[in-house]
Amino acid sequence: MQLSNNAKIGAAVGCLLVAGIILYFTTFKDMFGSSGGASGSDRMVLLCTNPKCDKAFKISYDDYGKLMQTDGANPMMMMMGPTPVNCKFCNQKTAVIANECPKCQNVFIPPNPMMMGQQSNDYTDRCPECKFSPIEEEMKKSK
Ligand SMILES: [Zn+2]
Ligand SMILES: [Zn+2]
Repeated sequence: MQLSNNAKIGAAVGCLLVAGIILYFTTFKDMFGSSGGASGSDRMVLLCTNPKCDKAFKISYDDYGKLMQTDGANPMMMMMGPTPVNCKFCNQKTAVIANECPKCQNVFIPPNPMMMGQQSNDYTDRCPECKFSPIEEEMKKSK
């Protein structure tokens, strides 16, 4: 009666995978979450990917929404990854959503969670400079 073991393992791995993906989507959604109110979470950090410009700036979710609308981008495109919007400095469509490290204020572009090949068990918000991850900190606290 060992026959069902493989199926059991398969199911367990499948469940883990699904749980991982759900967790991924939840944390990804949190980055865009507008559920907050007084927490000041209405600011997004954008980083210009134009090498000549390379400036970071902050806009509100509302402004970002407007930029997306004027660009004619649809939400499905956003699901595929960060859609570049107009940089407020060089006026090129090269600014993408970035993370600002709460520790060292380094601004970086998080790895695209939709790229399954690159999916690791690391957090996308980990700062490449000081290796600090706010999500990881939250996880530690909630445990
Ligand atoms: Zn720019
Ligand atoms: Zn940092």
